[in-house]
Amino acid sequence: MTASCSEDPGMRDFDVIVVGGGHAGAEAALVAARMGASTACVVLEAASIGRMSCNPAIGGIAKGHLVREIDALGGEMGLCTDAAGIQFRTLNTRKGPAVRAPRAQCDRALYNQEMAGRVAAQSGLAVVEGEAVDLLVDDPDPEATTGTIRGVRLADGSTLHAPAVVLTTGTFLGGRLFAGEWERDGGRFGEAAATAIATALARLGLRLGRHKTGTPPRLDRDSIDFSGLEVQPGDDPPRPFSFRTRALEVEQVNCWLTRTSPATHELIERSADRSPMYRGRIVGVGPRYCPSIEDKVMRFRDRDSHLVFLEPEGRDSPEIYPNGISTSLPEEVQEAFVRTIPGLENVRILRPGYAVEYAHLATDQLRADLQVAGYRGLFAAGQINGTSGYEEAAGQGLIAGINAVRFVRREAPFVLDRASSYLGVMVDDLCRVNPSEPYRMFTSRAEFRLLLRADNADRRLASAAKELGLWDAARESAVTHKQQRIAAAVAVLERTRREGRTLAEILRRPEVVLADLLAEPALADLGLSEEELSEVEAEVKYAGYIARQADQVDKLRRMEARRIPAELDYGALHGLANEARERLLARRPLTVGEASRISGVTPADVNLLLVALARSGPSRRTTGS
Ligand SMILES: Cc1cc2nc3c(=O)[nH]c(=O)nc-3n(C[C@H](O)[C@H](O)[C@H](O)COP(=O)(O)OP(=O)(O)OC[C@H]3O[C@@H](n4cnc5c(N)ncnc54)[C@H](O)[C@@H]3O)c2cc1C
Repeated sequence: MTASCSEDPGMRDFDVIVVGGGHAGAEAALVAARMGASTACVVLEAASIGRMSCNPAIGGIAKGHLVREIDALGGEMGLCTDAAGIQFRTLNTRKGPAVRAPRAQCDRALYNQEMAGRVAAQSGLAVVEGEAVDLLVDDPDPEATTGTIRGVRLADGSTLHAPAVVLTTGTFLGGRLFAGEWERDGGRFGEAAATAIATALARLGLRLGRHKTGTPPRLDRDSIDFSGLEVQPGDDPPRPFSFRTRALEVEQVNCWLTRTSPATHELIERSADRSPMYRGRIVGVGPRYCPSIEDKVMRFRDRDSHLVFLEPEGRDSPEIYPNGISTSLPEEVQEAFVRTIPGLENVRILRPGYAVEYAHLATDQLRADLQVAGYRGLFAAGQINGTSGYEEAAGQGLIAGINAVRFVRREAPFVLDRASSYLGVMVDDLCRVNPSEPYRMFTSRAEFRLLLRADNADRRLASAAKELGLWDAARESAVTHKQQRIAAAVAVLERTRREGRTLAEILRRPEVVLADLLAEPALADLGLSEEELSEVEAEVKYAGYIARQADQVDKLRRMEARRIPAELDYGALHGLANEARERLLARRPLTVGEASRISGVTPADVNLLLVALARSGPSRRTTGS
């Protein structure tokens, strides 16, 4: 559907406009429309909605946790992965439950079709093909970075009006592509950059930074000799990503493992001065944990080999994605170095690798609801917020979409705290500091990770999903049923005794796993699913740690979730440091938690704030925590 534009400034064409249709944009637009807001998704090319710029893989450690949380809140990424997945694996099955995570290799074209199809079919959501080049802002004051959003202007001169705009412009924002000496403007190979909107943001006084990322060359499957390579099969049976997928019936494909050789490193070292990074053409900072192969070779000179995973781009696709050798070296150097890798001696490159450098918002300008501080109604999500990765983008898209609707309806912002979810950890991290390099999620970022498991995301976020109206009766009954079955299994373990000890006590021994106890008839009779068994094991085996973390969470929550009234008079708070007063006034944080993370606000200032709030009346919580 294509929307008509209104030139009447008094008119509201939509409640929410989402700019961009990547992983952030698709989730933002879908959730806003599902919450009943009339929504537009403005995108450069409608067919690109949900397109994966790099490897068509979803999930992995911490990223898989994010997808399950997105799914628990009614998002789409898990369902699209189940529909388009060609290989499913649970990672870290031999490690503790906190770091076990689902990962799936997808069919790139199918994933894109699935997401674009779901967006097109969503009622209340109009896809507008075009480039957003400017923001319509009432009373803009770039010095104070304040104003009220009224809509967007498109490249054809038309305008769309809405009280809330969510920017999800990804790597397109001021994007520039590089490979060797070749460079040009672009958001992704073959797609134009969005430069005008970057200029518009700078004109509003917003601070922008530059990051970079890259992708490897794509290889012709028929030119690879897989015979000597280590095979990586999928799990049997595969486990679905989405809590809403009953079972997966999928014929899984294999991936393969190979390694770079000393000859690869020698070639790369000799040509490093032709890389745009080393020639100083790229100034943006790249992701530390996802470096290019030239970075790895130059930085870790003692290593003579790095892992390369050969991953199919689709069931019938001729393209293989060599995970681990992203590069922006000249095409002829790429051709030469890939052929030094076992199995790739005669490989043909179908598309060369390249790097992309792009602009992002300094994230200390964001509030906890992903609204840009000072600009009422302007929200941002995804790569524009300095993150890297589909899952991080989708998660923020969901949160920003929800909050854009709540803003329009004048409802309290939806803020998830760090103890509830990785989504809460990510948004909190972004608001607190302005990451100097692309931010990606790790389990180590979450202090309460034993509570934040991938398997219990539905139970953790059940009440938030319900409160937001993002759950139907079927989902609610499925979670209630799961809760009851887990509780029943825990009860069996706690009351059944063997040789004077309860099964729960036996399970807490390091060498025992739940599978050892499944012969117990009362437990076997419950017929728990794999996922339920893993939850029961975690709950019983780590009961002591979980209880301790829950206690810490309780204390932290009470303090952090205290809402700060929008009208609080910071001027009347005696003893507040001037710097803290200025920053609190400029930002008007929503909660004590958010206030405590503003740089320049000390614990002493937070104490004063708490005292003032205690005087002003009973505590109010933010939705969702
Ligand atoms: C070459 C490359 C390599 C990458 N490698 C990795 C990697 O190795 N690991 C990793 O985690 N991530 C990688 N990424 C990043 C990953 O693709 C992003 O994290 C993810 O796609 C971000 O999602 P997003 O929704 O924020 O933006 P994108 O997926 O970039 O989507 C942006 C959307 O906004 C639209 N758009 C932009 N500006 C406008 C405008 N003004 N008007 C209308 N529409 C607009 C575009 O059409 C597009 O639909 C890579 C990206 C690229 C390009």
